[in-house]
Amino acid sequence: MKTLAAEFAYFLRGRARQNLKALLVYCAFLIVMVLVYAAIFRFLMWHLEGREFSLIAGIYWTITVMTTLGFGDITFHSDPGYVFAAIVTISGVLFLLIILPFGMISLFLTPWIDQRLRRRLTYELAEETTGHIVIFGLDMTTRAVVSKLQAQAAPYVVVTVDQNEAFELEAEGFRVICGRPTDAKVQTAVRIDQAKYVIANLSDPENVAICLSVRSRCQTPIAAFANDDDHINLIRQAGATRVVPLHKILGRYLAIRSTTCGALAHVLDSFGDLHIAEIPVYGTPFAGSSLDKAGIRERTGLAVIGIWERGRLTVPTPETLLNENALLVLAGTRQQLECLEQITGENAMNDLIFILGHGRIGCAAAQFLEQKPVPFILIDKTANPACKNHVPIYGDATVRHVLNQAGIDQAKGLIVTTNDDNTNIFLTLASRQLLPHIRLVARANCDESVSQLYLAGADFVVSNASLGANILFNILESKASAFLTEGVSVFRRPIPEFLVDQRIQETQLRQRTGCSIVAIESEQGQIEVSPSPETILKTGSILILIGTPSQEAEFDAALGRD
Ligand code: AMP
Ligand code: ZN
Repeated sequence: MKTLAAEFAYFLRGRARQNLKALLVYCAFLIVMVLVYAAIFRFLMWHLEGREFSLIAGIYWTITVMTTLGFGDITFHSDPGYVFAAIVTISGVLFLLIILPFGMISLFLTPWIDQRLRRRLTYELAEETTGHIVIFGLDMTTRAVVSKLQAQAAPYVVVTVDQNEAFELEAEGFRVICGRPTDAKVQTAVRIDQAKYVIANLSDPENVAICLSVRSRCQTPIAAFANDDDHINLIRQAGATRVVPLHKILGRYLAIRSTTCGALAHVLDSFGDLHIAEIPVYGTPFAGSSLDKAGIRERTGLAVIGIWERGRLTVPTPETLLNENALLVLAGTRQQLECLEQITGENAMNDLIFILGHGRIGCAAAQFLEQKPVPFILIDKTANPACKNHVPIYGDATVRHVLNQAGIDQAKGLIVTTNDDNTNIFLTLASRQLLPHIRLVARANCDESVSQLYLAGADFVVSNASLGANILFNILESKASAFLTEGVSVFRRPIPEFLVDQRIQETQLRQRTGCSIVAIESEQGQIEVSPSPETILKTGSILILIGTPSQEAEFDAALGRD
């Protein structure tokens, strides 16, 4: 009864009330029309055929003719009568059978269904919901975050203003609320003040608006993406706790992996004094020798903690052969990296990187190379309105002569970074055929393309979604960890109490968790890179480890208890 009253009340409010008025006017018009036709019917019957009918009979005849029922019990037998009957039938079809149902559907049924569905989508989270993640704006990156949250059974809710998107997401199994992100009602419905984190993943102005409106209500931390470097400070001032310039980071990751220039240009992340860097073997004196013979550790003090080859990270043994296409993952201090740079040389100016795609990410890669400086050439189909500093070569990179004319045969490295994965796969395959020895780094806009890009011949693939999701996830979990690529990161953990005073060997860390120790940071902040198995773990020290997320979880499960 209550719901029936609520549905009825809907028709008495706002737009629906106006539509109801229009319907009543239309019905009055139909009644007048029927009465006029009934009167004309009586008049014609009497004057043409000498038959007399009551008004009720006239109304009855008009309705049966207008609705095309036409029982045929009362009919004209003269031409003017037939013409009149035809006019009544046609106006009946038009006003009663076409306009009336159309008006009912568009003015009542559709808005009513819409508002019912909207009401269903703007449900409120249960009162006890706390510690959830509120996501404004779902794209590949935040979808990857949601998958991780779902895997952990962590609560989240996605907010979208687009009703169709909301339905599609709901059908896919997402928890979604439909409404404007800055709407107070929506923020109440998502219990924003009880949330663990808010992720603002819309345009920069929208992210600013979200930060301001959330801050006016509560202090829930906000992680916001910034599409434009110039907006980072604005978004921070608006109240974002962390601002993630994802395109800049993606550009940097692509650029780092494309150039052979000095070791210091390859630092991916740092933990205090400990830097994690990735150096291509190509162009170094180590190419072709085994790790043992290369003597990197003896000569520089740096630890080789991993080797990337065609997207696979392996933990090297002394016998591992250092292939030209491989990338060394190194851990060490700045001085140690400087030492390596002296051995490998700063051959930045001999380098030449082609960047295919001068969008937000290609431009960020160019900015990074510019600072080193490493020479580069940009190719794009269209101008980048956000960039005033670079002059690209205009042309479709998939057309061979565009690349030939630009001098691709001179390139030492190639960054494939268009916004279309098919184009990226095509460009990777074609470039690999043309230049078998080029260092080729490709961007995957969608995670499914990662393996195809490796198959096509990329030396390294950086996935937008994975990188963004990992960065966000680290922020959500307040983790200090460096993301190396799909599924591998370097992370810190305090030494658990029950392992103190044990030798690394005795702890059997690698056997138990799969993680490897990269370095140990003492209480005084001194870093011992790649400690020997004999090293004794001291209280208050911090372990810096490398591993996959599942190995990281394994570590927490096995050793996280104090
Ligand atoms: P963004 O996603 O912002 O990094 O932009 C990607 C860039 O790739 C855009 O500027 C596109 O114009 C560019 N792009 C897409 N397809 C091609 C192509 N076939 N050749 C050259 N540039 C391309
Ligand atoms: Zn640019």
